[in-house]
Amino acid sequence: MTNSIYAEIMREYERDRDFAKKKSEQARRDAYRNCPKLEEIDGEIAKTGLAIARLALSRDSAAQLSKTRKSHTVLTEQRAALLKSLGVSGFAPKYKCALCGDTGFVNNKRCDCLKRRLSEKFYNVSNLGAILSKENFSTFDLDVYSLVVDKDRGISPRDNMRAILETCGKFCDAFGKTAQNILFLGDTGLGKTFLCNCIAKDLLDNGRSVLYNTAPRLFKAIENIRFNRQSSADDVMPQMLNEVDLLIIDDLGAEISTVVTNSELFNILNSRLLDNKATIISTNLDLNKLRATYSERITSRLIGYYDGMRFFGKDIRQMRKYKTANAV
Ligand SMILES: [Zn+2]
Repeated sequence: MTNSIYAEIMREYERDRDFAKKKSEQARRDAYRNCPKLEEIDGEIAKTGLAIARLALSRDSAAQLSKTRKSHTVLTEQRAALLKSLGVSGFAPKYKCALCGDTGFVNNKRCDCLKRRLSEKFYNVSNLGAILSKENFSTFDLDVYSLVVDKDRGISPRDNMRAILETCGKFCDAFGKTAQNILFLGDTGLGKTFLCNCIAKDLLDNGRSVLYNTAPRLFKAIENIRFNRQSSADDVMPQMLNEVDLLIIDDLGAEISTVVTNSELFNILNSRLLDNKATIISTNLDLNKLRATYSERITSRLIGYYDGMRFFGKDIRQMRKYKTANAV
């Protein structure tokens, strides 16, 4: 796979493995220095081990084999007792991920730690890492939303947002226990992307893999793969679409919608639903426009399997700028 992100992560794994091995070797050397007897026993164990392998191959040394096996067992027991007295559990390398031994793969499948590393890298490549430090649940400011009750809806934008925020908090708390999908609906500038970032940050901090993409960028990356353009850092991204714990597609409807993008979108949504994997979609389109833009099999999934949350009110970006300017 010719991919810079991927290659970078593989180099990191290699460094982690080297580090773990060097540390365990160092621990072994320290233990030998403190207790030369241990080194002596280890040498004996290595020798009897070789002898057992050799004797097992020859047929007429059964007695010798059994004798060597016994002394091997005795030595192993002595070693265990010695280690215990030294307060050492052993010298196996302690990898960051015990599941894959810092290789990134378990049974030829991407380990969860690799998915996590990939999603963190995607965030950093797209500069979202910096954004997440600013846009998260602890910086979400309800005060930028108006308290004036909307006559048609019978609720103020602020109370509406408070309810949405609460639901999103619950979504994060229950993540992994129940499969849930969210559809953010509403005009630009009402905080949909901000809230996507809050959820992403919360889940990434809790060790989940999250992939964020705007719809235009997502379909562009898929197209690059289809036409074999391998220059982009996004090469590995489309493969992650079905694997990450949470997929966020921001600004659905901003892409140039075609029959092909429609079918790609359906495949992504459908396979994630089948795999019980959570997806968040945000869009400026209302339900009627969604129906007009996408096929029935897409909209029926969005309506049937996603919790719709409607944002309304005035564009809060001006309000936020005003507050920031006055805070200085
Ligand atoms: Zn792992």
